[in-house]
Amino acid sequence: MNLAMGLCSSLCIVVCPVVQGWLDTGHMLVARMAQTQLEEAHVATLEDILSSWSRDFPGMSSFVSSAVWPDHIKCTNSKAPACLGLPATSLNAFDTWHFVDLDYNPDRVSIDDAQHPYQNPSAVWALRQAMSTFSSSQSTFAVNFMLRMAIHILADLHQPLHAAQGVFNDTRFGDVLGDRGGNLIRIQSPWKELRSLHLFWDAAGGLFLDEWPLVPEVELRQNASEIMRAFPRSSLQELNDTETSCFLRNDCGRVFKKWAIQVHEVAVKFAYHGVRANETVSEEYIAKVRRISKRQLALAGYRLADLLAVVVPFLQISSDRSGLSDRPWSLWTRTDIYTQALVALCSLQFLLLLLLGSLLCKGLRAKHRDRESLLEAEADRFVQLQR
Ligand SMILES: [Zn+2]
Repeated sequence: MNLAMGLCSSLCIVVCPVVQGWLDTGHMLVARMAQTQLEEAHVATLEDILSSWSRDFPGMSSFVSSAVWPDHIKCTNSKAPACLGLPATSLNAFDTWHFVDLDYNPDRVSIDDAQHPYQNPSAVWALRQAMSTFSSSQSTFAVNFMLRMAIHILADLHQPLHAAQGVFNDTRFGDVLGDRGGNLIRIQSPWKELRSLHLFWDAAGGLFLDEWPLVPEVELRQNASEIMRAFPRSSLQELNDTETSCFLRNDCGRVFKKWAIQVHEVAVKFAYHGVRANETVSEEYIAKVRRISKRQLALAGYRLADLLAVVVPFLQISSDRSGLSDRPWSLWTRTDIYTQALVALCSLQFLLLLLLGSLLCKGLRAKHRDRESLLEAEADRFVQLQR
């Protein structure tokens, strides 16, 4: 990365929204790892869907780059460096989809406002919504939207501080009644832009600082390969093949909750230990964050690949979307079975009426002919009598 890019990336980190998830490199790494495990045809199908928004979001419509879209749509000022000159999308309605606040309250602080794990909408809720859309939607718009969200949120859910809400009254962190996933815990680090515990984990302990579109492709490929070599599937006991069956049944609520609890336990075990508020993080802590972050990124990459491998063949949207936009919305665009049955019934009724009408006319005509013959016979008889 050259100096200009580095400065720009650092600036982005400083001004980006507080709750972000992995920085862009982390998200793109998860997508990249998933891509290497998916069939090429499946990736092509997904990129065909994603490409329908390439005009609004140039450079964010490949499988890997779409992973950063849900963070960039939060941008509210196109002149801000974080917006990189793109038009401000100003979509903040989905901000809570990126995390799950599961309480970590080691000091047993009594909290007036009850905390609600999995409070909706949360990351767990959003992933369930995405699965529901994938299973039944015939809309390219809906699948495109939820696909971008699912690729991103599944990765966010594996950032330990996206599954923890710390509550403390001890001397390490001060009195914090809900630390917003470590966002309210200030720290010092060798990277002056990484000033909160949350951001430090977002950047994988200073490992992955680059922001889209300044993530070099070659570095991305190399880092993805290295992480997968360091953490192969067989080394991750959380991966369980039977989990994928829920993707087929669209019944993954329990599985997504289990993922959130597993990640919460990682936060409790690693993120809050060996660190104190307002102090410089130790070399030991940095090494630990880097190791755990790479492991979590690998886990997310495998799970994303497993989910999409099941989902893609069952997507119900047509690959040929040409001409759809020209058709007016009417009853005829919904060529469902009920419409077709209604049309057939009406046609049958019309034919029966025609048949009935023609039979009636035929009968009347015969009756008329009989009457004429009778009159003619009567007339003949009358003539003969006259003679
Ligand atoms: Zn996020």
